[in-house]
Amino acid sequence: MHGKKILYLFDIDGTLLHAHRAGRDAFDAVFEARHGIAGASEGVRYGGKTDPAIVEEIFVARLGRRPDADERAAFLDAYLPLLRARLAVTGVDVLPGVRETLAYLREREVPLGIATGNIRRGADEKLAAAELGAWFELGGYGCDSAIRAELVARAIERARERHDVMEVVVVGDTTHDIAAARACKATVCAVATGSDARDLLAGADAVFDAMTELPAWHAARFA
Ligand SMILES: [Mg+2]
Repeated sequence: MHGKKILYLFDIDGTLLHAHRAGRDAFDAVFEARHGIAGASEGVRYGGKTDPAIVEEIFVARLGRRPDADERAAFLDAYLPLLRARLAVTGVDVLPGVRETLAYLREREVPLGIATGNIRRGADEKLAAAELGAWFELGGYGCDSAIRAELVARAIERARERHDVMEVVVVGDTTHDIAAARACKATVCAVATGSDARDLLAGADAVFDAMTELPAWHAARFA
């Protein structure tokens, strides 16, 4: 341990990158293959939700019941190769200012982590497609918990195993990110680059139109 640290935890979709519906399309393809219903996600909002919670929502919407643990695990196993294949076709767009912000924080020896509703292997696929994976030393994921606040807490626990964390900053694009950060007593920055419009994000400590604004906020906040 080398002094007290400010830990940053970044959401992935809508915050670091856009994956061009790769996740949603892969979920729909799995559901159609397993249950014969196309477009199963229609009307389901994905932003800020965890993968296991989305699987459950689709099951309830289309089959009128929740998946059991085996069905959910099998669904997510089937999802990964389809996600990988879609990412290979569509690629991902890294959002403006993301690489510069990560470099800025790294220069200041800020530990960087992920806090995402994606299961770990899905998160890794998206980060690899964006060539962003190397920036992050730890994370909390949808496979840690279907409840976002719990996976954020797990990421913080993992960080505390290796750093003396004095403050946590969660960066996300939805009200779910804000609520989860609050439950963990973290500071939260919202970026209006994802599924929730800027006026919905007013509960954050800072709201940015884009990640490009984060370094100046960090400099002022932690001067
Ligand atoms: Mg998001």
